[in-house]
Amino acid sequence: MILAAALAMAIGPQRSLPDEVSADRLIGTVKGLAQFHTRNTNSPGLTEACEWAAAQLLTIPRLQVEVMKYRASGNRVAEEKDVVQVVAVLPGRTDRRILVGGHIDSLNLRDDPVTGRAPGANDDASGTALAMELARVMATREWENTLVFVCFSGEEQGLLGSTALAQRAKDENWKLEAVFNNDIVGNSVNTQGFKDKKQIRLFSDPADTTKSRELARFTEWTVRQELKSFRVKLVYRNDRFGRGGDHTPFMRQGFNAVRFCEVWEDFTRQHNDQDTPEHVDKEYLRNATRANLVAMVALANAKPAPERVRIDRRQGHDTRVTWTRVDGVEYVLYHRNSSSPVWEKSIEIGTVGEYTVKGINKDDNVFAIGAKGGIPVEAT
Ligand SMILES: [Zn+2]
Repeated sequence: MILAAALAMAIGPQRSLPDEVSADRLIGTVKGLAQFHTRNTNSPGLTEACEWAAAQLLTIPRLQVEVMKYRASGNRVAEEKDVVQVVAVLPGRTDRRILVGGHIDSLNLRDDPVTGRAPGANDDASGTALAMELARVMATREWENTLVFVCFSGEEQGLLGSTALAQRAKDENWKLEAVFNNDIVGNSVNTQGFKDKKQIRLFSDPADTTKSRELARFTEWTVRQELKSFRVKLVYRNDRFGRGGDHTPFMRQGFNAVRFCEVWEDFTRQHNDQDTPEHVDKEYLRNATRANLVAMVALANAKPAPERVRIDRRQGHDTRVTWTRVDGVEYVLYHRNSSSPVWEKSIEIGTVGEYTVKGINKDDNVFAIGAKGGIPVEAT
């Protein structure tokens, strides 16, 4: 006992990974990005900002950093040309991938879109800084799965960079299991007087049984278990009303993708010269980063999802669930009332291939099985 106590004193309490997320580093990155006059995809500022972000990421051990070129075209691009975005990969033990990103480009719609001052601190240096901070923190550990950190460009011209990367992921057969898009995630209060420091919205597919919805539901559950005073507010829409984001092209290619966004946007400071770092709440951005992190950590260590998850159809007040188990994989059972949008309880059940829940009726409840840390699969 004395030795253990002495050792604990010498080492100090072990810091958890969410504690390692730094508000100062996050706001430092936001300021670094906002220093470019504009990061409009049609301007030289975009290339300069991508090179700056790539240089930051290159200081992180083991991270493979690529300045990815793609062809930008469409009615919001002055002339068709090659542009860049940044894709950084942290190799895991498997080639299954988890992706997180924000868009590095900005624009000024009030003055001139290309030459107008566009600091884009909240939209979306905040999401870019979040992804870069996750790269820093997660690169300090080894993971089962491969992690991808992205600074998308061409978002403001019609999701060009995410469309190019989603197409590439499809063409190269990436085993992409989850995509977290973070766009406008750094402000907790707006000029209209609305504020919410304790929640972040997470948008997912409007259809209830899609994998994107299950990813959102699992993220909400994980954050509720891991963080004390910050919550994910699920929104059952693909995005904000009439608007889109960089997760959408991934969904179109069949991947599970969701979008984080602050609760109360300040529309008066978007797409003009007022979107500056002093209006970014670094503690809120830190919490947004921690919410992403705890979900990423779970998924980064998860084994493949179970298959053939079935409910025994015989009548009774207990519910027996079966699935195809894989040796060595630990499973978790989740359940919720059919009218509850979120998981109400989970039970760690070990390396088994069947489990009976006593006294919880399959008529009234939804059940799912997940590999530990992975997206649950609803039992049918
Ligand atoms: Zn944006």
